[in-house]
Amino acid sequence: MLFDAHTHLNFEKYTEEERRGLAAEIEASDVGCIIDVADCVEAAKLALKDADDYPWCYAAVGIHPDHARDYEGICGDDPEKRRAADARLEADLEEIRKLAAHPKAVAIGEIGLDYYYGTDDRDEQQELFRRQIRLANELRMPIMIHTRDAHQLTMDILKEEGAFSDERKTWFPERPAAGGGTEPDARVQMHCFSGSPELALQYAKLGATMSLGGPVTFKNGKKAAEVVRQLPIEYLMSETDAPYMAPEPLRGRPNKPPYIEHIVRRMALLKGMEYDETARVLTENGKRFFGI
Ligand SMILES: [Zn+2]
Repeated sequence: MLFDAHTHLNFEKYTEEERRGLAAEIEASDVGCIIDVADCVEAAKLALKDADDYPWCYAAVGIHPDHARDYEGICGDDPEKRRAADARLEADLEEIRKLAAHPKAVAIGEIGLDYYYGTDDRDEQQELFRRQIRLANELRMPIMIHTRDAHQLTMDILKEEGAFSDERKTWFPERPAAGGGTEPDARVQMHCFSGSPELALQYAKLGATMSLGGPVTFKNGKKAAEVVRQLPIEYLMSETDAPYMAPEPLRGRPNKPPYIEHIVRRMALLKGMEYDETARVLTENGKRFFGI
């Protein structure tokens, strides 16, 4: 069985027919569980509909940094604009809070910072990110992080908002530690982790889990491959981020959860482990992380 810890079956551009076709392909494959990730309130509703429709589908609900522009003015000087933006954000967070109560909502995500595309909305991104970490803490739920070109700031904000606090770690069962025994788990997933092996180890020590996808198979994905090689498998999860980031040899096509096999095969090779054993451990890691 294979586990896709971050994918977008709710992708807005799929027609209903395409979504059903994709679900049939997943059912015919070795993929036994997916986390269908939202990027806004509407997507979260769709992800939960998928979760209602398919027993192997669970949802992450949250607002992606790409949507920070919807709350323009929330950090500005104009008190009127500020109040209006704050009301919009609070209303959306209230929706997310309600959706997160669904029994198959298993994480708050994807949330974080994207400084690759977002250049003029960085303050709004931070505010959106901080409030959703607080929401995840209030609800005692796993957190799914998207971060791009903002590695240090992402870690600083996660620390400041208590994502790795001792208290948070008491809410979740311990996880297997590298080298035996168990250790506290903060249930923070670094989705499509693109940092260095050193940063990955730092995150793992804080109680986070690195989630890796297509880039581990890319010729120019040496850093991701190195993270898989150096990080104990206890701290890894597998994901596709479909429809984005298709792995080799399918790079360039629209990605789908069944393609995760190529990612897990590559991870097995990098870790010097059997494919079946790698698939088993990564599935166990995913199920434990999301409490499935
Ligand atoms: Zn994603």
